[in-house]
Amino acid sequence: MSEDTLRDTVASLMGRARADLTELVSFRSVADAKIAPPEECAKAAQWVIDKFTEAGLRDVQGSPTPDGSLAVHGHAPGPAGSPTVLLYAHYDVQPPLGDDAWATPVWELTEKDGRWYGRGAADCKGNIVMHLTALRALRQVYGEFPCTVKLICEGSEEQGTGGLEEFVPPNADLLRADAILVVDTGNFAQGVPTLTTTLRGMTAVDVTLTALGSAMHSGMFGGPAPDPVAGLIMMLASLHDERGNTTIDGLNATQRWNGVDYPEAQFRVDANVLDGVELMGEGSVADRLWARPTATVLGIDIPPVIGSTAAVQASTAARVSVRVPPGTNARQARDALIAHLRARVPWGLRCEFADAGTGEPFIGSLNGPAFDAMKAALEDAYGRPLATAGQGGSIPLCGVFAETFPDAEIMLLGVEEPKCLIHAPNESVNPAEIEHTALAEALFLKRYAESR
Ligand SMILES: [Zn+2]
Repeated sequence: MSEDTLRDTVASLMGRARADLTELVSFRSVADAKIAPPEECAKAAQWVIDKFTEAGLRDVQGSPTPDGSLAVHGHAPGPAGSPTVLLYAHYDVQPPLGDDAWATPVWELTEKDGRWYGRGAADCKGNIVMHLTALRALRQVYGEFPCTVKLICEGSEEQGTGGLEEFVPPNADLLRADAILVVDTGNFAQGVPTLTTTLRGMTAVDVTLTALGSAMHSGMFGGPAPDPVAGLIMMLASLHDERGNTTIDGLNATQRWNGVDYPEAQFRVDANVLDGVELMGEGSVADRLWARPTATVLGIDIPPVIGSTAAVQASTAARVSVRVPPGTNARQARDALIAHLRARVPWGLRCEFADAGTGEPFIGSLNGPAFDAMKAALEDAYGRPLATAGQGGSIPLCGVFAETFPDAEIMLLGVEEPKCLIHAPNESVNPAEIEHTALAEALFLKRYAESR
């Protein structure tokens, strides 16, 4: 059977993919009982179990993880000696963020201008349906899977509660694979086949300044009274130069990105930057976004404008996050941030620091048999050369996979392109991305097996 048959078969399965996605989107599977009933996650998990069983996987079942979510896993043994590929996705979704902000019903897959709208249509239910479509096409054309396929489908990814991250190390044998496809990203732009090859790590530090035994009247005492808010502002201002470049002592911020370019005009649209407002920093957008450390003040404890009184505050605090690129150690970045701020505490203010979370950056496979097979598969499925992009955010699970399976080739891809508006109201997916990515995954599984 030729690969053209595979292409036609994937195309013929798209009606079924749409019906599946309609069912899957209808589950309000937000893994937070304050937002959606837990049965909704249970129903989504059961749906995944049923559909992947039907697609030819064995022993598909949900196992509880430490955060209470169910991790759905299963496998299908391939021919003797064939490699093993682990397919990842998650079935929980982001909260809808206000039904009023949506132009279509949140939990009802709705077609508009050729796109399918609904919460989770792309992130990550579109990717689950993509996996199903690839597996169905392979079985339909070849009667079996070309290699051993394993599935892991997470139930609390969007909550950051780490259930699967804790599940993976003690269940390593269940999930062990030669190649791991973390399918929860997507193309840099619609129709541009993209592997996400790096993820920034991050560290966050809480800094607390104390000056007075209590807040004091700013008319009677302001001037000589040491103002911790003024001190904090001076310290935080030192994290950037006037052009907006990150300036933390001892932390290199001059790296260059050598993958795909991120056009400034596109970034402005994607990041919702208002007309007339300039971007921060120098170098290309990709340099700043994927290759260099970035400091962001996440929160400051000071009275809000409404309700503020004429007082010098007794104390104040800020949470500062630093995103770090591969090549920079996140723990060293945390220590550099603390040393930088400590050196700038004015007026003998009392100062304390606390670690508010640190995770190392990640680099995916950039060579090896799985990478080569995936590159060719994506290029053939899309008819365009492969792009490699970074991602500014972190996916802690990737670090866990890399540590637990040091020899596995890990690759990040998926159906989520910028127009999907993941994590925002009016999330959608382009069905062509599901089709092309499913074809690429099917081609990959076949060719990777043949290459070994
Ligand atoms: Zn996701």
